[in-house]
Amino acid sequence: AGVIRTYTTSAPLVPALHFLMAALGRTINFSNGKSVPVLGLGTWESKPGDMTAAVKNAVTAGYRHIDCAHLYGNEPEVGAAIAALIKDGTVTRDELFITSKEGGDLLPADSTGKKLYSDVDYVETWEAMEECVKLGLTRSIGVSNFNKKQLERVLKVAKVPIANNQIEVHPYLPQNKLIEFCKSKGITITAYSPLGSPERPWAKPGDPVLTEDPKVKTLAQKYKKSPAQILIRFQIDRGLIVIPKSANKSRIEENFQIWDFQLSPEDIKLLESLECNGRICSSSEASDHPYFPFHDEY
Ligand code: NAP
Repeated sequence: AGVIRTYTTSAPLVPALHFLMAALGRTINFSNGKSVPVLGLGTWESKPGDMTAAVKNAVTAGYRHIDCAHLYGNEPEVGAAIAALIKDGTVTRDELFITSKEGGDLLPADSTGKKLYSDVDYVETWEAMEECVKLGLTRSIGVSNFNKKQLERVLKVAKVPIANNQIEVHPYLPQNKLIEFCKSKGITITAYSPLGSPERPWAKPGDPVLTEDPKVKTLAQKYKKSPAQILIRFQIDRGLIVIPKSANKSRIEENFQIWDFQLSPEDIKLLESLECNGRICSSSEASDHPYFPFHDEY
């Protein structure tokens, strides 16, 4: 737990809506044929007290995909919002795509504060997740923060396709090689921390701020969009799923207003050229974990 995260996803879109959303480029398909909205709401660091309103605002603005995790400590509030939205007729459960990750204790540690690692091989976890699919507990399963070697180990045993690998992706870490590998295996990518995660607890003064990068700002002026909208569109135009987090109503809405423009191939290349191995979620405190994923190039 902690470094190697597995997650389960559920719920297809209703068929007619599914067709329309795909035609509009708002959904893509997993290799199992199930579809996922390409834009979802991130929920990490959203305070439980803000979460119910954030999900209600997001669904009202048009979001149909919410990225959650047990670790974020706000899943009950996400659930409460979804229940209320279904009850008042705003949305049906079939229209929503919900991602969750992990379970059990949150980051167990010993008396010195050193994190205690699970000794379970993630391949075994994968097989248990396949059982969840067989039991009808989830529709699609995927992984998070997996590198190429780890994906290959799972691919060797997988009877259920790996639907998705959720990884950090933004112009400072465009992940072209891992994305290409995943695409070659039919694995979709969800880009997390697409805005550079400015609220991350370990941010230091002087760290680069992606939304203030001059090249991102220049493109924002060119397309008459905000830097955040450019960064979100960057992922969608590269064929990825993207899950910007916001707990603020106007930014939740702003982040969904990205359907009326597209970045040119040259501008996508320009953003990719900002690559600087700028990993934000490096989990370096767990670099001695036997399955630490970030020692390899990709
Ligand atoms: P992010 O989405 O890159 O950035 C979120 C931050 O940007 C928040 O501080 C938010 O503040 C701000 N923001 C949102 N919209 C904005 C806008 N239009 N203009 C300016 N600032 C804006 O960071 P993230 O939360 O790290 O990543 C997104 C999601 O990915 C997470 O929430 C989580 O669901 C997932 N994730 C997964 C993993 C994993 O290991 N699988 C790791 C990290 C993240 P406000 O809320 O105040 O708007």
